[in-house]
Amino acid sequence: MAEHLASIFGTEKDRVNCPFYFKIGACRHGDRCSRLHTKPSISPTLLLSNMYQRLDNAITPGLDSQGQPMDPRQIQEHFENFYEDLFEELSKYGEIESLNVCDNLADHMVGNVYVQFREEEHAANALRNLTGRFYAGRPIIVDFSPVTDFREATCRQYEENTCNRGGYCNFMHLKQISRELRRKLFGRYRRRQRSHRISLLKNEAENLEAEAQVIGGTAAGALQEEGIEVLSEKEALSEGPKLSSGTGKGSRQMLLERTMITHRMVSSIMTKKNEVIDIYGFLDRGR
Ligand SMILES: [Zn+2]
Ligand SMILES: [Zn+2]
Repeated sequence: MAEHLASIFGTEKDRVNCPFYFKIGACRHGDRCSRLHTKPSISPTLLLSNMYQRLDNAITPGLDSQGQPMDPRQIQEHFENFYEDLFEELSKYGEIESLNVCDNLADHMVGNVYVQFREEEHAANALRNLTGRFYAGRPIIVDFSPVTDFREATCRQYEENTCNRGGYCNFMHLKQISRELRRKLFGRYRRRQRSHRISLLKNEAENLEAEAQVIGGTAAGALQEEGIEVLSEKEALSEGPKLSSGTGKGSRQMLLERTMITHRMVSSIMTKKNEVIDIYGFLDRGR
C-alpha cells in the first residue's frame, strides 16, 4: 500500500497531490487547486516567484510596450545582466547546481526563477537571507520548491522550437544564456572540483604507498621469523631455476613462492599508485 502510494505520488494517478506543483513547482490553479500543493520543509531548490521582469512585452514577446519590434540582442543582454547579477548574489550562500529562469507568460510562471543548490543547507541559508528583501523595487517571494529534476519539468518541444502552446505552456520554457556567460559563472566550480579531486587522488596515492610498505614489511617479517632470508624480487627470480635439483627442493620452492606472491602484490599496488599519480598529474596540468 505504502509502496503503491509512493509510486503514484505527484503523478496524474495521484488524486491527492497535484502533479504540476510536484513536478514543475507551479500550478495554474494556485491556492484554488483541488489537489494538494505540499511545500517541502527543506529542499536544495528555491523558487523565486515572478522575479524576472522581462524587457519586452509579456503579451506579445519581442515587442516593446508600444508594440514596436525590439532588437533581440537587447532583450538577451537585459536577461543576461539579470542572470549574472542574481547568480553572484545567490552564490554567496553556496554552490549553485543550476539557475533557471522561465520564459513562460502565464501568471503562475512568468519570470519564475528556480535556483538549485548543491546542498539543502545552502538553500535554507539563502531562503533565510532573501526573505523580506527587495529586488528592483519589488519584494522577493521565495520558498522551497519540490523541483529537483529540471529535465522532467522542462518542455522538450520548446527546446526544439516546436512548442505550439507558446508562453502559456504548463511546462517550463527556460531562457538560455550564452556559452560564454555559462563558462564564466559555472566555470569556477569546475576548477574547484578539479583541485578537490586532485587532493583526493594524492591521498589515495599516499595510502597505496603505505599499504605496499605494510604488506612488504609484514611478509618480510614473517619470513625472517621463520629464519628465512628474504630475497629481493630479482634474486627470487634468479633463484627459480636452481630449485630444479638438490635437497629440500619442495619446501624451498614453497618459500620462494611466498616471497614471489608478496613481491607481486607490492608491485601491483605500486603500479596502481603510479596510475593515480598519472591521473592527478594530468588534471594538474589542465588547471
Ligand atoms: Zn495544483
Ligand atoms: Zn511548451
